[in-house]
Amino acid sequence: MLEHDTLFIGNRWVTPASESVLEVRSPATLELVGRAPDGSPDDMDRAVLAARDAFDTGPWPAMSFAERAAYLDRILDALRPRAEELDQLVPQESGIPVCFMSGSSGFPLLEYYSELGRTHPQEELRPGRPGVAGGAIVRHAPAGVVAGIVPWNGPVMQILMKMAPALVAGCTLVIKPSPETPLSSYAIAHAVEEAELPSGVVSIVPGGRDAGSHLVSHPAVDRVSFTGSTAAGKQIAAACAPAVRRVSLELGGKSAAILLDDVDLDRAIPTVVNAGMFFNGEACSALTRVLVSRNRHDEVVDRLTHEVADLKIGDPLDPVTFFGPLVSERQRDRVEQYVASGRDEGAVVVHGGGRPEGLDVGWYVEPTIFTNVKNTMRVAQEEVFGPVLVVIPYDDVDDAVRITNESELGLAGGVFADDDHEAVEVARRLRTGHVGINTLGMDWVFPFGGFKQSGLGREMGIEGLELYCELQCFGLPEGSPLASGPR
Ligand code: NAD
Repeated sequence: MLEHDTLFIGNRWVTPASESVLEVRSPATLELVGRAPDGSPDDMDRAVLAARDAFDTGPWPAMSFAERAAYLDRILDALRPRAEELDQLVPQESGIPVCFMSGSSGFPLLEYYSELGRTHPQEELRPGRPGVAGGAIVRHAPAGVVAGIVPWNGPVMQILMKMAPALVAGCTLVIKPSPETPLSSYAIAHAVEEAELPSGVVSIVPGGRDAGSHLVSHPAVDRVSFTGSTAAGKQIAAACAPAVRRVSLELGGKSAAILLDDVDLDRAIPTVVNAGMFFNGEACSALTRVLVSRNRHDEVVDRLTHEVADLKIGDPLDPVTFFGPLVSERQRDRVEQYVASGRDEGAVVVHGGGRPEGLDVGWYVEPTIFTNVKNTMRVAQEEVFGPVLVVIPYDDVDDAVRITNESELGLAGGVFADDDHEAVEVARRLRTGHVGINTLGMDWVFPFGGFKQSGLGREMGIEGLELYCELQCFGLPEGSPLASGPR
């Protein structure tokens, strides 16, 4: 059992302001995995003030991208020996199976942003219009104090996705891990401590909604970077508006996989199932609406059902398990309510729909496939966040595009076809941030984020670094010696 009684505030271990505790129970066994302090608004105040002081008076924001990238290398060196520990811990906190290695799978993010810190220009010289100005230095200045709020699915990766680019950019930051998964964040905090960053640069304070909403409204925070539900994202955007506080939102999805008529199902079906149901379906980018032409509908349903039936449900620590338990009883209730609503609205369960036999302890649900689904039904419009696929027939490609775009969300998607060119032509018509062409196709190197109510801004890639920068412009007189080239 892991017992933590301190919080990592301003790069130091401190006693929490309150005695409130987060208890983590395994969603598979319901046994106690560990305890950690439940960060309070007072703890958030201390963390924000440490970050503010480090930004305003410390050396961190004045360093170069490359100097700060060297600290990422040190964090990674300190994290690597903890890979095995995290790969075992994350399934016990979240129920996400170990086959997805969601503990250490985010480590390459540090490598990627470290490399970017060494190669991406921090300042650029831009020539002025002829005869008007001498040019300008365009500087990628750090955005300031960042509040990063993350969810429980992929808890390590979610923290690293914010921390790595924010640190290279020169920000100081306060990360609030989810109350469901505080334990894995301690491994990151220890690695940051070992990397010996300047005082105050990083705080990692797990806590609930109150602590989160206190953090995002704090006047000393310059930028909020939020990943979570669309409902919370709207509240956070509203909280940031009065101060015009910069905010980026990575929110929910209800993404579609479009199977074009000529698709090779041997190739497509395993990818569609994986893309729709990985992480127990608790993934923002999951392709949970499967769109198929009427003449191949029955064949596709049959193939999907067989593919899902072959995947093992059970202990998330077993390497052959594909479906573990959902993160909490509340999440299972939510998924079961959606399954009930699908049935009530006339959709038909062709696979699953209940609880798996022989798994009486733990928050398990059967992976479920619905047919007879209309795109207006709740199961087709709202994010279920569980292993539930809905199959929707279309008449022709125009109809498939229309159905896909008839959604308030627009995070991800996939087009599956015999020909990549044909698939990408369809992808161009979709109002969604990421489209995989015959694959899910996501990578740290590519910008990721949502259209519509799936978000605001882009994480990952160069855009993920730019997110934590403010552009600053130094206009130069004609003939200025600086016009020959800044650093
Ligand atoms: P959630 O919105 O309930 O909570 C996410 C985080 O925000 C938690 O740390 C929570 O404590 C905090 N929080 C909640 N309300 C808040 C508020 N008003 N102010 C400040 N903080 C608040 O979401 P969840 O159930 O933990 O996670 C699942 C959701 O996250 C899904 O909707 C999923 O699609 C989304 N998600 C999106 C992405 C993406 O990149 N777009 C990635 C992962 C998860």
